[in-house]
Amino acid sequence: MAQTYDAVVVGGGHNGLVAAAYLARSGAKTVVLEGRHKTGGAATTESPWPEAPEFAVTRLSYVMSLLPPTIIKDLELARHGYKIYPMGPYYQAFPEGGSIKLYADDAKRNHESVSQWSKKDADAMPKWDAWLAGLADVLGPLLLTVPPAIGSHKPKDLAGTLKLAWRHRGLDVRTIADVTRLMTMSIADLLDDWFESPQVKGALAVNGVIGTWAGPYEPGTAYVMAHHSIGDVGDGHLGNWGFQEGGMGAVSSAIESAAREHGAEIRVSAPVARVLVEDGKAAGVVLANGDEIRAKVVVSTVHPKLAFLEQVGREHLPADFTTDIEHWKSRSGVVKINLALGELPDFIADPGTQLQEHHTGSVEMAPTMEYIERAFLDARDGKPAVRPFSDGVIPTAFDKTLSPEGTHIMSLFTQWVPADWNEEPHTEELEAYADRMIDCYNELAPNFKSSILHRDIVGPYEMEHEYGLIGGNIFHGELSLEQLFHMRPAPGFADYRTPVDGLYYGSSATHAGGGVCGIPGWQAAKAAIADRKSVIRGKARRRS
Ligand SMILES: Cc1cc2nc3c(=O)[nH]c(=O)nc-3n(C[C@H](O)[C@H](O)[C@H](O)COP(=O)(O)OP(=O)(O)OC[C@H]3O[C@@H](n4cnc5c(N)ncnc54)[C@H](O)[C@@H]3O)c2cc1C
Repeated sequence: MAQTYDAVVVGGGHNGLVAAAYLARSGAKTVVLEGRHKTGGAATTESPWPEAPEFAVTRLSYVMSLLPPTIIKDLELARHGYKIYPMGPYYQAFPEGGSIKLYADDAKRNHESVSQWSKKDADAMPKWDAWLAGLADVLGPLLLTVPPAIGSHKPKDLAGTLKLAWRHRGLDVRTIADVTRLMTMSIADLLDDWFESPQVKGALAVNGVIGTWAGPYEPGTAYVMAHHSIGDVGDGHLGNWGFQEGGMGAVSSAIESAAREHGAEIRVSAPVARVLVEDGKAAGVVLANGDEIRAKVVVSTVHPKLAFLEQVGREHLPADFTTDIEHWKSRSGVVKINLALGELPDFIADPGTQLQEHHTGSVEMAPTMEYIERAFLDARDGKPAVRPFSDGVIPTAFDKTLSPEGTHIMSLFTQWVPADWNEEPHTEELEAYADRMIDCYNELAPNFKSSILHRDIVGPYEMEHEYGLIGGNIFHGELSLEQLFHMRPAPGFADYRTPVDGLYYGSSATHAGGGVCGIPGWQAAKAAIADRKSVIRGKARRRS
């Protein structure tokens, strides 16, 4: 016999768990169905080395910034284990000698550090920070806005568009121009307008290409930088990032624990094969093992191609919507390399294997914009980057729960390999790519290679086939201009509702995603709860 719930959530990544927590909190009998053996999706802590189970890595995502304080507060996540260590400075050592540190929250030290490379850039830095803060004031609230269906003539949609315009009536010509620049420019052109030294531009370009199938000279990368600069780990410092104690899986566990406390049931190893649609309405799901679970509300948080093309089916969707999802772009070319280290990197520029400030933030391999661009051009030409770029971090600088005393975990978020490496494992080439990445760090810190105890390489194929990240894109869909705001995941359906009544969509492929921000799951749950309430109210009205 089919089991019956008020709400089924497909996918137990952090967004699915957030959706479940809010649905259960509203009184809905809710079940989460996760295909893997554990929840968390791309926010997961795992022990990839069977011979060394004492090491745990935050296998895919690695730092927090974007989770809004409202979700943290509503779900009382601190009580459930959410604990962030704000990161130290951005650090890049240079092959030609010297290093740069950028401090998110210390203008004086920032000035000193940047002055070594350019006095002009050091003076420009506070203005740049203020400029970004001004833009974040405009873009930050937009992240929490449900995008209206721009162009729709339905009264509700027109009202939504007008409301949005009215909310921004205070913007002046200059701010609109700045937002336009940010949305259309390449990060390289933008940085060229502000700064002169290659070292500073390399450092600031990283956020423009993280997870993106585009080099720093591609239009639109300025916005990617802004997306990564809006967040705040709750310490009030714009654009600051932090490490969750226990790795990113502990963020998912905290949300899961809150969801369970509100009464949600969470099932793992429960892959969903189909979403049931009856008379144009969601009616539940069928699991891969054939079990049927019925519910009037279904919230899907899996990649849009899985959610709509595989699980709902084209026969239940309008042709335009189906085409939009077919055209959805999710390339990335990202390779995650997780390392267990016997000692910390001993940089020529800043010697010593004892813990120092430059080990506590991002430990980069992005010396110039040209270096980053070269890595992208290699991959666009169909080869893995000869000298990949890396956003590295050493969470064990703070978090002692991940590895035995005296050892460390280092996470390298690297780019790029060719966009089609999601189709084949490319195991040997990935090993060679990781060797080259490690060699690049070894040039700056000669003890690096010999300090590696274990390594784990996750390429696009594994991201797609093990984690459901189709195409290997880290956000379930590129953050390119045609896939933002009212276009995410498809025009007319950016309000976390879908063409199927009762089916809501809350993965990172919706507005405010990606990243571990929980906003898509929260918004999808809010839409479902609001519709459920109006149905209940309607029934009550009909009865009275
Ligand atoms: C390498 C990498 C590094 C990243 N770094 C960061 C970072 O440092 N900071 C940050 O904020 N963001 C980062 N991101 C992005 C962020 O991790 C994702 O945007 C976010 O975790 C996605 O959450 P989600 O819940 O929308 O989807 P997912 O986490 O993908 O969850 C979807 C879930 O659905 C499950 N599923 C798939 N198919 C089925 C099915 N048929 N039935 C049931 N379940 C199914 C999957 O197993 C998965 O658990 C990174 C991502 C990657 C890949």
